[in-house]
Amino acid sequence: MKTTLLIGALTLAGAWFAAAGQPLPADTIPAAEGPIQVFPINHATFVLQHGGRTIYVDPVGGEKAFAGFAKPGLILVTHIHGDHFSTETLTAVAGPDTKLVAPPSVAEQLPANLKERTTVLKNGESGEVTGVRIQAIPAYNTTPERLKFHPKGRDNGYVVSLGGKRIYISGDTEDIPEMRALKDIAAAFVCMNLPYTMTPEQAAGAVREFKPAVVYPYHSRGTDLELFKAKVGADSGTEVRLLSWYK
Ligand SMILES: [Zn+2]
Repeated sequence: MKTTLLIGALTLAGAWFAAAGQPLPADTIPAAEGPIQVFPINHATFVLQHGGRTIYVDPVGGEKAFAGFAKPGLILVTHIHGDHFSTETLTAVAGPDTKLVAPPSVAEQLPANLKERTTVLKNGESGEVTGVRIQAIPAYNTTPERLKFHPKGRDNGYVVSLGGKRIYISGDTEDIPEMRALKDIAAAFVCMNLPYTMTPEQAAGAVREFKPAVVYPYHSRGTDLELFKAKVGADSGTEVRLLSWYK
């Protein structure tokens, strides 16, 4: 089943070949000015490309993790944890024209040369950076024993508008009301793993409520994704796409 999904997701337009000659799976979301291309890198890290733009999300893993990709015009950082934020990687992958978007807690840890190119967005704020509309969505834990991981107000999720489509990136969060209230989402990257974020049941419950056209479970190490898919259900109208996040 997983193989079928991957093959189905591969398109000629979306195929990308690494410097080493190994094809990486690229997934696509239809949009104006050509499809949005999705390249999972690892865990919470991915690349979006659309209309000549390249966006890195939570780049970690060093420059080698992005070998073959164009320098990003835009980098989104959700929060301070090491699986999302690395000043070494940011320094290595940022080009001279790269802009960043980050919450205040990340911005204050950035070296000066990156900080001066960062648009700081708090929960609920939005802005336009490199011509891309970005809205900062809250991301936080709600289960008492998990509150210590992601306290409310510190971390961001994002809604990014590309080619007339709204892409939601959850960051590390539980199934909060702000997620459940999202509207008109073409594709959603939704985290699920314990003890840090949420269960597949919580994630599926939220997805059934905000009804993205496509959902990509990510940040899902150790999670039963078939259970997630079953809980989202064939009747939900949301397509679950399982990408290769852990190689
Ligand atoms: Zn994380």
